[in-house]
Parts: sequence; C-alpha cells; structure tokens
Amino acid sequence: MKVGVLALQGDVPEHLRALEGVLPKGSLVPVRRPDELSHLGALFLPGGESTTIARLLSESGLWTALAAKLADGLPVLATCAGLILLARDLAPSVGGQDPPTFGLLDVRVRRNDYGTQRESFEADVRVEGVAGRPFPGVFIRAPRIQAVGADARPIAWRGEEVVGVRAGPVWGLAFHPELSGDPRIHQLFLRAASRAHYRT
Ligand code: GLN
Repeated sequence: MKVGVLALQGDVPEHLRALEGVLPKGSLVPVRRPDELSHLGALFLPGGESTTIARLLSESGLWTALAAKLADGLPVLATCAGLILLARDLAPSVGGQDPPTFGLLDVRVRRNDYGTQRESFEADVRVEGVAGRPFPGVFIRAPRIQAVGADARPIAWRGEEVVGVRAGPVWGLAFHPELSGDPRIHQLFLRAASRAHYRT
C-alpha cells in the first residue's frame, strides 16, 4: 500500500520518519502535487500552521483534488493543523484569522485554545484500540475539540476531554503521535487503512 504525507508545510519530516519505522521501503509518498494523490491507500495530514497549509493547498491545486479524494473515502490521519483543516466547524480563535476547512469531520474545534507555544505540553492520552501504557500525547499550540457531532465519534481522551475523533476512515487528533516516538497510533491507523482497501 502506498501511503502519502501531505508535504506542503509543517512537521512533514517527523511524519516521514515515524512512518519509515513502520512501513516497507518505497511505500512512502510526500505529496506536493495533485497527481501524487493517485493510488494512495492512506494519507497523513501533518501538524503545522493551518492557515499556511490551506493557502498552499489552494495554490498547488491540491485543495480540489484532495476534497475529491476525501469525498471518495480515502483513509486519512490528520494531526493538529490537519484536524483543523478537516473540521466541520471552527470556533473563532483569539485574534487569528481562521483557515477555510474541508468540513469533513463533524467536530467544532478552536485553534490555539490551550494557549501559546510556551504553553505547549505533554500529557497521557487514552486511545481506543491502543492497549497497555497510556499514549504520550504531545500538544503544541493545539486545537481544542469543543464539540463532537453525530457523524463523528471520540477515539482519544486526555482525562475526560476528547482529543481525537474518527468518522469512518478519517481520524483527527489534536496532538502529535509523530513526535512522541511511539508508533502505536500510526500502526493502528495503517492496519485500519489497509483493511479498507482504498487504492484509486
Ligand atoms: N496552531 C496551529 C494552527 O492553528 C496548529 C499547531 C500544530 O499543528 N501543532 O494551525
């Protein structure tokens, strides 16, 4: 299965490194152009700056191409800025302009809601399907999931707070599994994606 990482801006090298540990050589595709979306079995949307990624998606022609793939059921794991870009609803963030979104994940999120860069933190996260010790969640200027709608369901929690959701093949996480050195979420998602047999 070919696996893409949207490679326009953000923590792309970290995602590629995390995936190199769990995928066979040659199956990873950094995606910068619409044609590179072809024949993927799964795609990762990295963290970064959602407003910048949204602008680069439009300028590269990837916005329209990716919207079509998302509507078609491409399995996606989106982290942080990626979650923001998939959200159905953005609560206005403090002083920020907020990006346009694909509106695919039925959640309301608010950018930068845990505070500034200096207030970034690590916390234990419980993830559905991840057994054993808690997952080390790295939160960097993370979006807060304020509400989960009927078309999505929670899959990750920090205490009582929902920090990850899923709608069928599309997963959105407020934290960064690619930065924790723990491959369990990548492995879980890739197993689900390979069972989905999406290839077009
Ligand atoms: N604060 C960023 C944004 O709003 C997201 C941060 C991240 O991806 N680590 O886009």
